[in-house]
Amino acid sequence: MAMEIELTAPNGRRWMQPLGLFINNEFVASSNGQTITSVNPTTEEDICSVYAATTDDVDKAVAAAKKAFRDPSWRQLSGTERGALMYTLADLVAEHAETLATIEALDNGKPYSVALKENVPEVINVLRYYAGYADKNFGQTIDVGPAKFAYTIKEPIGVCGQIIPWNYPLDMAAWKLGPALCCGNTVVLKLAEQTPLSMLYVAKLIKQAGFPPGVINILNGYGREAGAALVQHPDVDKIAFTGSTATGKEVMKMAAATMKNITLETGGKSPLLVFPDADLELATTWAHWGIMSNQGQICTATSRILVHESIYDAFLERFKAKVREVSVLGDPFDENTFQGPQVTRAQYERVLSYIESGKQEGATIALGGEPAPQKGKGFFVAPTVFTNVKPHMKIFREEIFGPCVAIVAFQTEEEAIQMANDTTYGLGAAVFTKDLVRAHRVAKEIEAGMVWINSSNDSDFRVPFGGVKQSGIGRELGEAGLAPYCNIKAVHINMAA
Ligand code: NAD
Repeated sequence: MAMEIELTAPNGRRWMQPLGLFINNEFVASSNGQTITSVNPTTEEDICSVYAATTDDVDKAVAAAKKAFRDPSWRQLSGTERGALMYTLADLVAEHAETLATIEALDNGKPYSVALKENVPEVINVLRYYAGYADKNFGQTIDVGPAKFAYTIKEPIGVCGQIIPWNYPLDMAAWKLGPALCCGNTVVLKLAEQTPLSMLYVAKLIKQAGFPPGVINILNGYGREAGAALVQHPDVDKIAFTGSTATGKEVMKMAAATMKNITLETGGKSPLLVFPDADLELATTWAHWGIMSNQGQICTATSRILVHESIYDAFLERFKAKVREVSVLGDPFDENTFQGPQVTRAQYERVLSYIESGKQEGATIALGGEPAPQKGKGFFVAPTVFTNVKPHMKIFREEIFGPCVAIVAFQTEEEAIQMANDTTYGLGAAVFTKDLVRAHRVAKEIEAGMVWINSSNDSDFRVPFGGVKQSGIGRELGEAGLAPYCNIKAVHINMAA
């Protein structure tokens, strides 16, 4: 099989798509020639096949990253010089924005306009943000009296294994690469096997930007094979993972054998609380965005809407009207499309099976609840609203990861907080109220890594992102995102010597 292929998208854009494993700044075949086929979720047709890493390939990529970590071409760079490489990469991503957005729409099924206006800019912003930090992230001198001088150095951890999911292939890669490179680490990034194409294209830009060989290695491959090999590899010093809670737990277990530093960003079942004094139009707009954007495939999706009983009926009617007005299903390349297909057939079936379980457990489907193929094709699911939902139901407890929301009534603030916290997850939460005192009080009481007051899911690369409970360990983004990528070395100097 060739190392690249010419692809043309429905919007007429053509590009040379790399198909290899990116190791040492070169695209190579997998050791046994195995591949994974990427499927267009809109048409259900194959796009192309991409090499998939074996355990041997992971060994090669880790060896390249280990060598690069020690090589003066990377190790001796000042923070300023590392930052300059990252700025160059950000500029190249900006130059190739249309192609990257096209690949993302084709491979993942998200609307082209969203990929272009939100996802590609996020990559650029994150790279530039951490490029700026590369020469501003240093240690301290510590006063321990005249007999001794003490200071700390922030050092890179070493070879970082990074494993990303398919819901934001570009952004999740940027969130991981940005801080790792900023701190001087080297990386083996494993893409999600469902959506490898956009980051393989970025690999070309990484080489063009001038990163030394082996600093960033990018592998497509299956989780149980390439992902597990990376997590267990003795020469990998750190694992950063984003994906499901179940896989996160496996990663944690496997990483324990070599006591690796780990960061985990896993699932969620985030609540959105609407109090009686809330601006209902504002609440409806954000509540819709918070669950229906990105086809509902967001770890922080506010998938449980808790509404005060006095405004429940009014909210429900407005929410359904908002879905009908805004959630336009269709081809990701159609500029009117708000919602594309689910990423794969497996996810589509998984979402439909949750809808079925909701029905069986006695919930009411107030809207949607069925497949919604476009021109007879594609993994589309109608935006779905459940009512009459009880706290024990699977649709209220488990992460569906699709355009499905449960809307439930509460009577008191205490009950709302109790319901919000009655989950093993703790990623995001949203609160709608005009009462600032209540807003701060509830924000403090909710068990979550992030709380939005009068909005939902408007995360920002300058603000820490991450969960509590079984939603993860550690933080990405913001200044806090640097801590998981450096070790602090303490140096003690005996001044009496
Ligand atoms: P997953 O957690 O299995 O996959 C995420 C990443 O981990 C992928 O790159 C995958 O190849 C890798 N992986 C899988 N098994 C591995 C292993 N044993 N060792 C190392 N790496 C491994 O998620 P999925 O199966 O693609 O999706 C299933 C569900 O996960 C979704 O329905 C959703 O609920 C959840 N999910 C959450 C997020 C998130 O951002 N929190 C993202 C994607 C999926």
